[in-house]
Amino acid sequence: MLGKLTGWDDTIVALATPPGIGAIGLIRVSGPKTFGIVGGLFPAKDLREQPSHTLHVGLLKEGEETLDEVVVSLFRGPRSYTGEDVIEISCHGSPYILERVMQALLHAGARLARAGEFTQRAFLNGRLDLTQAEAVADVIAANTAASARTALHTMRGGFSRELRDLRERLISFSALIELELDFSQEDVEFADRKQLYHLISEAEQMTSALLASFRLGNVIRNGVSVAIVGKPNAGKSTLLNTLLNENRAIVSEIAGTTRDTIEEVLNIDGVLFRLIDTAGIRHHTSDVIEQIGVGRSLEKMDQADIVVYLFDVADPIAGVAAVREELVAKGKPFLLVGNKVDTAEGAAARGRFPGELLISARDGHSIDVLKQRLVDQVLQGAGAGDGTIVTNARHYHALQLIQLSLSAIRKGLDELLPGDLLALDIRHCLHYLGEITGEITTEDRLDYIFSKFCIGK
Ligand code: GDP
Repeated sequence: MLGKLTGWDDTIVALATPPGIGAIGLIRVSGPKTFGIVGGLFPAKDLREQPSHTLHVGLLKEGEETLDEVVVSLFRGPRSYTGEDVIEISCHGSPYILERVMQALLHAGARLARAGEFTQRAFLNGRLDLTQAEAVADVIAANTAASARTALHTMRGGFSRELRDLRERLISFSALIELELDFSQEDVEFADRKQLYHLISEAEQMTSALLASFRLGNVIRNGVSVAIVGKPNAGKSTLLNTLLNENRAIVSEIAGTTRDTIEEVLNIDGVLFRLIDTAGIRHHTSDVIEQIGVGRSLEKMDQADIVVYLFDVADPIAGVAAVREELVAKGKPFLLVGNKVDTAEGAAARGRFPGELLISARDGHSIDVLKQRLVDQVLQGAGAGDGTIVTNARHYHALQLIQLSLSAIRKGLDELLPGDLLALDIRHCLHYLGEITGEITTEDRLDYIFSKFCIGK
C-alpha cells in the first residue's frame, strides 16, 4: 500500500500554529531530507551531528540574509510524531517571518504538506492506528472539557485496544477453523465451539455498548440541545439570563447548528448545551402556547435532547401533574422545574410540590441543582463501562456491520454450520474490525479521512 502513495518520500513542511501574529510560530518539517534541509539554513552548528530529542538555539539564514533567531527541536525517526525525521522550528510569531522561513524551506527542497499529512504519515508508519489518528483531529477541535476527554481517550488508544483484542482472539479462532478444513476428511474440531460462542457473546455485548455510546458521543461533540418551555410568565427568559450570565460558552462554530434556530450555548461542567429557540423565549412568542399543558411547545420539544419545563409555583397542582403526564408520555428526557420559590407562594410550594425541583430564576436559588441535573441527564446511561465513547460516524457504521456479522456467527454456531461457512462469517467480522482500526483500508478512504485535518497536523 505504501508504495502506491505518491509523494511519500518527500520532505514536507507546514506551519503548525494558527496563522496570524503570536508570541511564537511553530514550523514543522518531516521526511528523509529534514536534517539536510533545515541544517542548510542553520549555520550555527551541524544539526546532523546532534542527538535526537535535543533543542538548539541559533540564527536561521538563507544565504546572507538572517531570517530569525529560532529554537529547533530535533526528533529522529522512528521516535517522532510521524515516525520520520522531524524538526520543529520555533520562530517569532510574525506572519512575515514565518512566511519567509517557509519560503526558504520550500526553496531548499521541502514541499508544502497536505491537510493531515503529518498524522497520515504517523499512521502509515504504525505510530498511531486509524482511530487514534482520527481522534487527533477531534482533540484539536475539542471545545469543551468533555469533548477533549473523549477524544484524548480515543487518541491514546482506549477504543482500539478493545477492538484489536477482539480481532486477535477471532483471528486465532479463524486460524483453528481453517486448520480443520485441511483435515476435513478426518472430522476433527480444533476450534472449541463453546469458547467461540462465549467470545461472540462477549463481543456482542461490547459492540452494543459501543453503539449505544454513539448518541452520547455525538451530543458531547455537538452539544446537547435543550428546550426551555412553559407557560407565559413562568420565568423562562429570566432563567435563560441567569444561566447565561454564569455559563455562556465561547464557541465559534458548532457542527450541525444553524444560527436562526439556536442562539445561545452554555458550558456546564464541560458539557455543551445548546438552547433551542432562545429568540422565541425572549420575544414572548410563548402566547402561542395554550393556557395549560404543553401545547405548541411540543414542536420545540421534538428538536430537543432534553426538555426543561418551567412552571410557576403558584400554578395549580393539577395542571402541573397533567404536564408531567404529558412529558412522560412523550418519552423524552425532561426536567420539570417549579420557579419563583422566593415569593410568598414559594414558601408553601415545598409542601405542595414534594419531590419537584424548585428554583428561583430571579435570585438563583437551586440553579446549581438544576445545572447538575442537566449534566446528569446527559451522562446517565453513558457508554461502555470504561468510558469509551464512540463519536465517529465511520466507526459507528462499521460497528453496526460488526454487530450483524457477530449475529451471523452466532446463528452459524446455533445451527452447527460447517467450518468453512463459519470461517467465512468470521472473516467478514474481522474485515469490519480491521476497517475501524485501519488494518484494512483503501487509499481513497485514507485520503478522505486525512483531508479533514488542518494543515500542519
Ligand atoms: P417568560 O414569559 O416565561 O419568559 O417569563 P419571564 O422570564 O419574562 O418572567 C415573567 C415575570 O416573572 C417577570 O416579571 C419576571 O421578573 C418574573 N420572574 C421570573 N422568575 C422569577 C423568580 O424566580 N421569582 C420571582 N419572584 N419572579 C420571577
